[in-house]
Amino acid sequence: MPTIKVLGGGREVGRAAYLVSDRGEKFLLDYGVNFDEEDHPQFPGHVRPIELSGISISHSHLDHIAAAPLLYITGRPRAFTTRPTMEMGRILIRDFLKLNAFYIDYELSDVETMSENTIYLEYGEEVEAGGFRILMTSAGHILGSSITYLTTPSGHLIMYTGDVNTIQTWTLSKAELWPLKIDTLIIESTYGSTKHPPRHLTEKKLIDSIEEVIDRNGTVLIPAFSVGRSQEIICLLQAELPHVDVYLDGMSREITSLYLRYKSFLRDPSIFEKAVENTNFIKGWQDRRKAWRKPGVIVSSAGMLKGGPSVYYLKKIGSNPRNAVFLVSYQAVGSPGHEVLETGGIEEFGIEKLRARLQWFDLSSHAGKDGLLGILLHYKHSLKNVIIIHGEPDAANNLASMVKERMGNDINVFIPNNGDEINVES
Ligand SMILES: [Zn+2]
Ligand SMILES: [Zn+2]
Repeated sequence: MPTIKVLGGGREVGRAAYLVSDRGEKFLLDYGVNFDEEDHPQFPGHVRPIELSGISISHSHLDHIAAAPLLYITGRPRAFTTRPTMEMGRILIRDFLKLNAFYIDYELSDVETMSENTIYLEYGEEVEAGGFRILMTSAGHILGSSITYLTTPSGHLIMYTGDVNTIQTWTLSKAELWPLKIDTLIIESTYGSTKHPPRHLTEKKLIDSIEEVIDRNGTVLIPAFSVGRSQEIICLLQAELPHVDVYLDGMSREITSLYLRYKSFLRDPSIFEKAVENTNFIKGWQDRRKAWRKPGVIVSSAGMLKGGPSVYYLKKIGSNPRNAVFLVSYQAVGSPGHEVLETGGIEEFGIEKLRARLQWFDLSSHAGKDGLLGILLHYKHSLKNVIIIHGEPDAANNLASMVKERMGNDINVFIPNNGDEINVES
């Protein structure tokens, strides 16, 4: 009987790591990290690399990939993922290592060993590893992100959503649900109790707000995650406000070049190319010092104002009510972005009261509760088990009640804790 051991991501967002065992073979779905309140990395449960037939990596966010190099200190398991995931993963892990080296047991050379042992998949292509078969399709979350379909040695079909988005965005198509008879679904639940407002309305609100600020000769700072959100914003600006000056700063620049290199993973490469042409890349301090002095939009990492050039811009433009700070990313509790939304100021930057206009826009790259339910209903005729992970307890519980309500009691629903091992019937 196949079993799934939850090594991370049980009743928490992040640190995704799921070990599938069947007929003596083992396969790992993701191996990511989380951060505690002091921002120190937390690793998932231990795996012996020698026992693995392989590991698949759903996407390049640290909470899905950043523990994986640990497996290459002593082992050489084959990794399965898309090219953009590994390329972006290497950039993000390099940064993670730089900031947290003291807490991390692996080195850059182990990251290289991981990438040397990677087998790259195209969406829809199926490969074998040990007794397992692996297939990936687009998850719509960030460039190269994948839903993983894993057939175990005894023929049990597991679908793992990774982080998934079920709506089309400027850069990516919506998640592609492959026509298969899924037995067990491992589903994320980040927004298991949240209904996102319709995307086009949020975008319109953001565009209208930007126009108001520009009309008053103000500067807009959009702190955005370097992977995904920044690229979405520059596409939106190119489409709706092509006459406005747009600047891109921080790690987003390097990631944007990667998006260009792997255009075939984009929904419409021509939209993206135009957006990049329309965007001024900040190349150094000279550009940076000029950018905020005139009306325009500055898109810069970090998305939660935790560092990066966005902090510099915030300090420069924040005291003038003509300017604006528009947050478009998730703001974790304890982050400066969260603090300014709650209190209007940020203590560590010496900002008692932000004078610039401040607003938050829901442009999530995760499916809301309706989208998640849509995935479940899509496979309802074959589903026997649903394992809800990658969500706070409230969100996971809410999704579980929706499943029971809409799909009846014949289906087994699990909200595991880290360390739990679940038997799934063949
Ligand atoms: Zn995640
Ligand atoms: Zn993610």
